[in-house]
Amino acid sequence: MIQNSQNLFERAQQVIPGGVNSPVRAFRAVGGNPVFMTSAKGPYLYDEDNNQYLDFINSWGPMILGHACDHVEKAVHDALGKSFSFGAPTRREVEMAELIISMVPSVEKVRMVNSGTEATMSAVRVARGYTGKDKIIKFEGCYHGHGDSFLISAGSGAITLGVPDSPGVTKGVAQDTITVPYNNLEAVKAAVEANHGEIAAIILEPVVGNMGLVPPVNGFLQGLRDLCDKEGIILIFDEVMTGFRLAKGGAQELFNVMPDLTTMGKIIGGGLPVGAYGGRREIMDYVAPAGPVYQAGTLSGNPIAMAAGYAMLTYLNEHPEVYAYLDNITGKMVAGMRDNLAQLNLDYTINQVGSMFSIFFTSNPVTDFTSAKQSDLALFGQYFNSMLRQGIYLAPSQFETLFVSVALTDELADQYIAANRKALQEIHQP
Ligand code: PMP
Repeated sequence: MIQNSQNLFERAQQVIPGGVNSPVRAFRAVGGNPVFMTSAKGPYLYDEDNNQYLDFINSWGPMILGHACDHVEKAVHDALGKSFSFGAPTRREVEMAELIISMVPSVEKVRMVNSGTEATMSAVRVARGYTGKDKIIKFEGCYHGHGDSFLISAGSGAITLGVPDSPGVTKGVAQDTITVPYNNLEAVKAAVEANHGEIAAIILEPVVGNMGLVPPVNGFLQGLRDLCDKEGIILIFDEVMTGFRLAKGGAQELFNVMPDLTTMGKIIGGGLPVGAYGGRREIMDYVAPAGPVYQAGTLSGNPIAMAAGYAMLTYLNEHPEVYAYLDNITGKMVAGMRDNLAQLNLDYTINQVGSMFSIFFTSNPVTDFTSAKQSDLALFGQYFNSMLRQGIYLAPSQFETLFVSVALTDELADQYIAANRKALQEIHQP
């Protein structure tokens, strides 16, 4: 029963484009109506019709400690008593920068912004300002927010809705973005060769979450690092999803490859709207007012957002056991899904890195955008809806990863595995 959600969606469509404030939420790719939420606690979401869901989106990543976890909530309450916004520097911003720098190995200076989109737009501007070059290389199916330069072969909601190349991006901007297949170092080398001396930056998700979950193949990240060193290109890791999630220091720590610049988001706001970009000191000193590359924000470093983010990062910094727990519980679910597939004589691909994972409805390995797109999207839609009916809330697109939180207990993981089995059976009934 989702009558209240249905009524709200009808109203929403009259006043909000497509009825939602971010496209994937509309459930377009899976059919049916989006569910309107009212509250969340621990592993659960609750909707307008009082249904309970076990959540595997976790606000697309930030709820790594589960919804409304106590110490983040307390930090926000404490901050609310002092000011909603100063528009002036605060102690917490300094502490936040120091904490991020202590956790993320390659970051020496960092600037707070308000979203992942701002972080990637700004990082690319700095890379261009620093190198004096215009072009960037991005990978097909990677998503870096909705900045113009990135809406070329974009993943996530852009591909879900069939608009990987958005109208509204000028030809001039589009031709400065060169796209190559993920995990294909030779293609990157060829693109660099063909645009010799013109590339400011290579930007990528070091582990992709936006075409479903796609890990880097062995040597890919290091190969990019070596190429960038050789050619004087800035390497940008977009760790908006992977940062503070795959390890305390993100994918760069996990794979031990250091980018020049890192973009961050999601977890660093503890659920409030925050992003950041940081990296090597001499590059970050190009940012105004230290340097000439302009970037600013009225609400950047907002005290409520900083309080939430600082509480979240402090917890992760002081509880490294979180990562082992997440790896294990996610590994258990993936193993359970593989058992289900084997018992049902089905052959679909599952990718996992740490607490991010995806099932692709194709039997081929998924290593890039082309292979991700071989998935049977109709089957994914049926699977999604079967899981939803069983109270399991998955990302409503094949081209998204799932995120696990520490609120997921062993018992709930079992519940997930059982639901997965039932859904697979259901969608394969003649
Ligand atoms: N980069 C990556 C890797 C992302 O996954 C996202 C959003 N999912 C963004 C950038 C954009 O972040 P935001 O939605 O906060 O603008």
